[in-house]
Amino acid sequence: MVHSHEQARCCPDCGVRSGRPHSWVRTRPRDLPVAGRRTGLTWTKRRWRCVNGQCRRKTFTEALPSIPPRSRLTSRLRTSVGEAVADRGRTVVQAARDFEVSWPVANTAVTAAAEAAEGHAAGDAPGDRRDPTREGEVPPGRGARRR
Ligand SMILES: [Zn+2]
Repeated sequence: MVHSHEQARCCPDCGVRSGRPHSWVRTRPRDLPVAGRRTGLTWTKRRWRCVNGQCRRKTFTEALPSIPPRSRLTSRLRTSVGEAVADRGRTVVQAARDFEVSWPVANTAVTAAAEAAEGHAAGDAPGDRRDPTREGEVPPGRGARRR
C-alpha cells in the first residue's frame, strides 16, 4: 500500500498541480524480499490530465521518488542489488539470484551504484536515468561481471 505524495500529481513537464484525474493504472513493482521471500507492491496509480493550457503534455501518470517512472523495481531494491555487488563482493549473477531479478536488471543496478560511488551520477537529473542495457549488449550470464 503506497499513499500518493502531493508531488506525484504535478505535471513532469510544466510542474502545474493537477486536480483532474484521467484514469487509473495498476503497476506491480518488485520490492525487497522479506525473510527471503519475494515481495511485490500493488500500486494503483492515477493518470492525471495536465490542466495547463500552455503545456504540450495532455496526461501523465504519478511517479514517486521510491518508484521512478517506468521502473518495475522500487529504488530500494535497485540500490540493494547494486550494494550487494559494490560493497559486499557478490557477483552480478549472485545478486540477481539473491534478489530474484534478471541479470540485465542486476547489472544496470550495479552500474548505477558504481557511478554513484564515483560521483559520476552527481550531475544527472534524478528520475531521468535511462536503462543503459540495450538489446544485444547482454553478455552470457554465467560468471559474467562488469568489474
Ligand atoms: Zn503540464
